[in-house]
Amino acid sequence: MALDLNLPSPIEVIKYELFERHNVKVRVKRDDLIHPEISGNKWRKLKLNIEKFKENRYESLLTFGGAYSNHISATAAIGREMNIPTIGVIRGDELNASSNDTLGKAQKDGMQLVFVSREEYGLRYETSYKHELRRRFGNTLIVEEGGANFLGVMGCTEIVSEIHDEPDYFIIAAGTGTTTAGLLMGVDHSKIISVPVFKKGDFIRDEINQLLEFSGLGEFELIEKMNLLSLATEFSFGGYGKFNKTLINFMNEIYSATGLKLDQIYTGKMFYALCEQVKSGIIPSGSSVIAIHTGGIQGTNSIKDQLLF
Ligand SMILES: *Cc1c(COP(=O)(O)O)cnc(C)c1O
Repeated sequence: MALDLNLPSPIEVIKYELFERHNVKVRVKRDDLIHPEISGNKWRKLKLNIEKFKENRYESLLTFGGAYSNHISATAAIGREMNIPTIGVIRGDELNASSNDTLGKAQKDGMQLVFVSREEYGLRYETSYKHELRRRFGNTLIVEEGGANFLGVMGCTEIVSEIHDEPDYFIIAAGTGTTTAGLLMGVDHSKIISVPVFKKGDFIRDEINQLLEFSGLGEFELIEKMNLLSLATEFSFGGYGKFNKTLINFMNEIYSATGLKLDQIYTGKMFYALCEQVKSGIIPSGSSVIAIHTGGIQGTNSIKDQLLF
């Protein structure tokens, strides 16, 4: 493999007055340090999809994303590093490669960008549409938006297998819920707190349940796994990509106190939820927690002037 990856990712103890006062031991699993461009859970979710690509004679790898998708960036960078032709189906036919840095960089990395209407993008889970894409692009491996497929889930179980002492809680930000599903698959007894970054994030429980159904768990095991999951849905700050001064101040405070850099789309909300749940005692005194730093720091470029880092 031509890729130089920092695996297993480091794990760090976080010293922070709030955690000490409440006697909660917090560590952070630094998946953000896996690779400068293929950060965090995006590598985990793509890893086994790439192995499938290599084991079969696919000509290219095709996936889907919005204009600012971290998944699109990661896929394009992997394609560049591993000599895999990549195709990105992008939501929005008004866009082009010069619309923003994410798209520009993806194209520069060699990704073929295909801009489609929102209506066409809505067909991305339909079998007939996948057939059409294969007719158009040849023998291409189609990977779901966000890497949200069974291989994506299985790749994320490795986050847990790299940890030798399971904590009482894992906490993680959720977009598609694939990484959350992987943690659930991987753990023996830890509870998983998943923080959806969307408004009305409750739907994610069904998504996670569906992802786990593919994993061959029996009905009883599936219920047991789902019982380990709790959703912290009140920390979306108004929806995907939304944030406010409170969140920015919080991110600056965490950086000053601990040196940890968070982003305003995913990990800032996750860490905010962690602190609130420690304060309120939902995470009780005496607990151990591992927060997964899923990356996304490139997303802070747009708000650099408001951050201390
Ligand atoms: C994509 C992403 C997530 C969401 O992961 P899911 O597996 O889709 O839930 C979380 N954090 C960061 C930084 C991401 O880029």
